[in-house]
Amino acid sequence: MTHSSEPSSPAIAPPPESVLPHGVSSYARHRSHQVTFERTEGAYLFDASNNRHVDFALGLGPLLLGHRPPRVTEAVHQVIDQVDLTAGVTNIEVEFAASLVDLIPCADKILFQSSGSEAVHLALRIARATTGRKLVVKFEGHYHGWLDPIFASAPGVLPDTSQSSTARPPVPNVQGEKIRDDELVVVDWGDIDALQELFAQHGDAIAAVIMEPVPYNFGAFAPSHEYLSATRDLCTRNGSLLVFDEVVSGFRLGLGGAQHIFDVTPDIAVFGKAIGAGFPLAFVAASDASLASVSSNVVRQGGTYNAHPIGVAAGLATLEVIKADPDFYASLEHISALMQAGIERIAAKHNVPLTVNRFGSVLQTFWGLESPPQNYQEALRSDTATIQRLFEGVTAHGVYIPQRGLIYLSSVHQPTDVQVAIDAIEASLQAL
Ligand code: PLP
Repeated sequence: MTHSSEPSSPAIAPPPESVLPHGVSSYARHRSHQVTFERTEGAYLFDASNNRHVDFALGLGPLLLGHRPPRVTEAVHQVIDQVDLTAGVTNIEVEFAASLVDLIPCADKILFQSSGSEAVHLALRIARATTGRKLVVKFEGHYHGWLDPIFASAPGVLPDTSQSSTARPPVPNVQGEKIRDDELVVVDWGDIDALQELFAQHGDAIAAVIMEPVPYNFGAFAPSHEYLSATRDLCTRNGSLLVFDEVVSGFRLGLGGAQHIFDVTPDIAVFGKAIGAGFPLAFVAASDASLASVSSNVVRQGGTYNAHPIGVAAGLATLEVIKADPDFYASLEHISALMQAGIERIAAKHNVPLTVNRFGSVLQTFWGLESPPQNYQEALRSDTATIQRLFEGVTAHGVYIPQRGLIYLSSVHQPTDVQVAIDAIEASLQAL
């Protein structure tokens, strides 16, 4: 079998906007000027004219090992030569689930899905059925996928405010009117008094509290351990389930997720993105106690492509690559810190209000704030139009960064790649 590394000749295609809304297949990919890519390798994207772009979007998170990591590509090639869908169970699926159960503190069982949104949906269905309650508590600005029941108060996932105001459901005012309806309530992140009050009033109705334990989708800063453990206690005392959405934090921060790092164990956790190294793979990890509704068949998990051998092979290979390098996370931390320091350096040099939050290998940039924000309301004060122009501008210098200013690092980025990014951001800054 040969796997050519030659770029395929560009197909003659109509303009993307003529056949795809906004010219893309996910609203989060939209940019003011879309680039069409033909090929990917390591830390790089190559466009239709074979120009190289250093990629810090990384598929919006999954490409922890960079593009087409050789071991993962090889495992995927091997598996598709051997097995496809079975409507049964495969040995690699069981092997993979067993490895995940070993690594993830909350996991007794694994329920495979294909995307993070679906997995969140399943987690909440399980929580509601297991507790016999309906109300789910989420936090302002935390993103849990694009499905209706949980889309309220999602962060600025759309590229500009005119679009987001029509596409985003209204954000309920937590301080005043706490309950939007009997299914979902949105509370301020980090405000333990607000959460305590909510539990005092409605504790016996709350099925689950769902959170991004590290709020990557709006701030990329460390949560306080006290806050996570106080939330854990409130859930335990009220018979509600704590759900960690580790779709971004999972395997990016470490093999056991944020739950391992912060030593706070949820009842249910949702993973996706990095573990699949770019292939569709997501899963729910849960304790046996939280899965009562599944074991009794009240809740049924569906999904034609769940545990697709391609995703499973990619996941197993990803674990193998990470485990083979004892310095994997230390190196990732090092290169990510380099990026943060570089951005801070040029902001200081040009005396501009560009600030950056970082936790692990994800950075979020802000404009016009005195210091990087620590909650959603502060983050909302960032001048997103300037951030958008800043990161649109880097494209001309061979760097690809989401226009939201959310920057992902991978294990294949080198200091030279970071320097290219810093130079590009500086050039774009000067042209603002
Ligand atoms: N949860 C979080 C924290 C996410 O960041 C995302 C996607 O960005 C999702 C869930 C949804 O995952 P997917 O896009 O795979 O449906």
